[in-house]
Amino acid sequence: MKKYLIDPKQMWCKANLHCHTVLSDGCLTPEEIKERYMAKGYSVVAYSDHEILHDNSYLCDERFVALTAVEYSINDHAPHWRDEKTIHINLFSRDPHNTFHVASSVRNAGKYYARFKEDFRCDGYDRVYTKEGINEVIRRANEAGFLVQYNHPNWSLNTREDYMAMEGLWSLEILNYCTELETGAEYCPYIYEDMLNSGKRLFCSMGDDNHNGDKGDFGSYGGATYIGVDSLSYENVFSAMEKGNIYCSSGPRILSLYVEGDTVVLDCDPAVNVVLTSKNRRFMNRFGAGLTHVEFPINEAVEYFRLTVFDDKGGRAHTSAYYLEDLKK
Ligand SMILES: [Zn+2]
Ligand SMILES: [Zn+2]
Repeated sequence: MKKYLIDPKQMWCKANLHCHTVLSDGCLTPEEIKERYMAKGYSVVAYSDHEILHDNSYLCDERFVALTAVEYSINDHAPHWRDEKTIHINLFSRDPHNTFHVASSVRNAGKYYARFKEDFRCDGYDRVYTKEGINEVIRRANEAGFLVQYNHPNWSLNTREDYMAMEGLWSLEILNYCTELETGAEYCPYIYEDMLNSGKRLFCSMGDDNHNGDKGDFGSYGGATYIGVDSLSYENVFSAMEKGNIYCSSGPRILSLYVEGDTVVLDCDPAVNVVLTSKNRRFMNRFGAGLTHVEFPINEAVEYFRLTVFDDKGGRAHTSAYYLEDLKK
């Protein structure tokens, strides 16, 4: 019997899960973002403006979902911002109308807070850059119905000690396209690998983190997350994200993925290499030109696996890790 992990019968919505608009330091309005991303084939955008939650769900229609989101920073307040260690997390809200903050930081929010303080509602918990403080923000977020994505570890000057201490994460942003363009160091599947090898369980995602300086497209359309739904709605998109019915890509699409017996079967856009990775150095490759169908044997010795698809333009698609014990359920 086929157990589908990426079911071709579902609609695989292209999403940008990291975006800034004029509501914080971006240059396009939420409406302009919707128009531009829809023109590029996207049907979901998480409006993750800095520090302040905005309900942009008025933008939702039968062809588009605007996820209510926010990007929080938890900073160590070093004297110069270039040396400042920080944790940036995106919170995606289950309830599109929920703009109540689980952790405030007037100091971090700065000018954004000044603009929106009339609407700002919070339970008064302040953020602290310590292992406990960071996990408390994530815990509060999860409790209030938010999925928490860990953003751009390299730009944040995070080390292994930092990310291994974090609990309750929904996903790691393995590509932050804008900071990858700026720093050349924000594509981090190796961090996902490290976390999985160490026993952490979370999904992986990609986002643009676009600010659209001078109203241009710099930093847009480079890192997408695909979300599988039966029909497009806010609720279905959130629920698919929560279950991990996603994959992410900077180029090729994965068209189908299933397990049948001891075999993993994947169909994708033409690829030059497909890799199945498991714990430590357990990997298998299929090389070739124009690969669109690959099969890998798996056995009980494999605790989990994930797949990476390389195309000939440098694009890569990543699945999250699938655990064999979950597949048996
Ligand atoms: Zn950030
Ligand atoms: Zn951002």
